[in-house]
Amino acid sequence: MPQALRDAVRAHAAPPWLPELAALVGADHVSDAAPDLWVYARDRLPYATFAVRDGRVPGTLPSAVVRPGTEDELAAVVRFARARRIPLIPYGAGSGVLGGAVPVAHELVVDLKRLNRIVSIDETDLTVTVQAGMNGGQFEAALNARGFTTGHLPQSLYMSTVGGWAACRGAGQNSTRYGKIEDMVLGLRAILPDGQVLQVRPVARRAVGPSVKDLMIGAEGTLGVITELTLRLWRLPEVQLPLVLGFPSLQAGLDALRTVMQSELRPAVVRLYDAEESGQRTSAGGVFDARPFLAILEFSGPRRVAEAECGLALEIATAHGGARSDDAPYHHWLAHRFESYSPKWQSRGYYMDTIEVTAPWSAIPALYARIRDALAALSPQLYFGTHWSHVYPEGACQYMTVRGVPEPDAQALALHAHAWETVQRLCLEAGASISHHHGVGAWRGGWLRAELGSGFTLLQALKDHLDPDNLFVPGKLGLRARDGAVRLEPEGDVR
Ligand SMILES: Cc1cc2nc3c(=O)[nH]c(=O)nc-3n(C[C@H](O)[C@H](O)[C@H](O)COP(=O)(O)OP(=O)(O)OC[C@H]3O[C@@H](n4cnc5c(N)ncnc54)[C@H](O)[C@@H]3O)c2cc1C
Repeated sequence: MPQALRDAVRAHAAPPWLPELAALVGADHVSDAAPDLWVYARDRLPYATFAVRDGRVPGTLPSAVVRPGTEDELAAVVRFARARRIPLIPYGAGSGVLGGAVPVAHELVVDLKRLNRIVSIDETDLTVTVQAGMNGGQFEAALNARGFTTGHLPQSLYMSTVGGWAACRGAGQNSTRYGKIEDMVLGLRAILPDGQVLQVRPVARRAVGPSVKDLMIGAEGTLGVITELTLRLWRLPEVQLPLVLGFPSLQAGLDALRTVMQSELRPAVVRLYDAEESGQRTSAGGVFDARPFLAILEFSGPRRVAEAECGLALEIATAHGGARSDDAPYHHWLAHRFESYSPKWQSRGYYMDTIEVTAPWSAIPALYARIRDALAALSPQLYFGTHWSHVYPEGACQYMTVRGVPEPDAQALALHAHAWETVQRLCLEAGASISHHHGVGAWRGGWLRAELGSGFTLLQALKDHLDPDNLFVPGKLGLRARDGAVRLEPEGDVR
């Protein structure tokens, strides 16, 4: 363990309230042991990885970790924290990449992984009720074993929880067919900051004022802890048919995919890669020689429907200069779809990050070109690769990988911060949104005012009302921070 970490752990004083907390959940389920303090001091925010790699604590250590086993225990923990003014962070699996789960003011980490059961499956309504701390991979496997899927398959499936998906407003790789998580959640239960239970019944649509359910989705724990969710289910599809295409230009690929989406076709998967990423996934000597831009689509459902949709999509692609290739790039993608690439680069000293934004089709070509050119101007050594992988009739998610080379931390972190500032600023200037599915956490907080305008004032007012002592995930989503909290945002004055 690096010296700075040892010092931080040594400086940690056991909170005087720990025995009382242990009485609520059992002594085995609270800890302020050094390994726990250390493990829960970070999530998958790349900056946190860079800091740890450099021997630093990214924010602060947590005051302690508590693992409630039931909703009642969780409610008791929340009431306890409120009575003693202890700030807290709900923690799913720590796979968030914006620092939402990273303590910045010695928060109490409330790990939800003991809430890990499927509560019920309703085979008539096709719904599943699941506890929020259940691991995504285990959840999907249990559903598949009974012939069902939610259709929510994020790359982080095996390293995230169902509650984390909802808290971050996430997207799975089949979002084009099944929607994002906010389209799948029909009802939920949550503990509000005052310890009350919020229950939103899972009914088919409603018209009873603004959606209270949606206050919890994407709030990243700032307005309450989600304990249980009811999601829409689907029967496993009869077939999954790949359609792999090459296009002569990026614009041709974008136009073809837009037309597919505006033709009432419903592909499950749509992925279009820029030159950099296409080159990594295709080989010479085939369709891609003349049409180097790779697109991968998948159609699923009843065989006759999927075959018809696949055929119509191919006609649209051909009309845009595209051609069909063999399915090798699809099978490669399928085999590696849940792997995480960043540790491979980060462990070798690189400064790798990913930034996903969402934009209307009309804005995408210029936005992509401006970001690519601006990043190249920042540093010719900065790697930049992009794909468009969550695609809708009106626009798409642009998912960018930015990677700085190994160099001294001070220089690299300044470049990393400027890369973020460039992408988010150009995005806002283009009328796009700064995030499609990773969320805001700590890192993106500074851009939320610009993103939401007067909506941000509304959000802060809501937060102040529900959580007057600012105890729930304080300082994240750009909301008011606690006095003395560590600022976990791009370094320097980049905004
Ligand atoms: C390699 C990799 C690939 C990824 N791929 C995707 C992807 O394809 N799609 C996608 O959407 N995201 C992706 N992510 C981001 C991340 O996995 C998601 O945001 C995920 O939903 C976070 O879930 P978690 O359980 O790990 O949450 P955590 O990281 O533990 O928490 C994230 C935030 O949500 C809050 N939170 C967690 N659980 C609850 C709860 N029950 N109630 C209230 N608040 C809560 C936390 O306080 C924190 O603010 C990826 C991340 C990695 C590292």
